[in-house]
Amino acid sequence: MATDYDEVRSDVKESQDNSLEALQSANAPDARSVVRELDEADGMDDAIVPGGEFVAEELVVQVVPQAEDEFTCYSCFLVRHRSQIAREKNGHAYCVECEG
Ligand SMILES: [Zn+2]
Repeated sequence: MATDYDEVRSDVKESQDNSLEALQSANAPDARSVVRELDEADGMDDAIVPGGEFVAEELVVQVVPQAEDEFTCYSCFLVRHRSQIAREKNGHAYCVECEG
């Protein structure tokens, strides 16, 4: 009984040691390169927000500040008041100027 228990323990310990070594050797270079990339990006521009999230510039350009009573015309891409919606099709709204 005691011998079996010891064998199981040594097996578990060995596999834990092996996986821990694998994790450490696999993670260490990655972590360093990630930190280096973040440092470079931070020095170049303000792409990193205070929360530490990386925001792609293309994404920021497409996000238009929009109040609840406003819509973005799918034709001219201007933000307009909802009263100026002339047509809505497939979930996209079009303003009176584009439809007029
Ligand atoms: Zn329009």
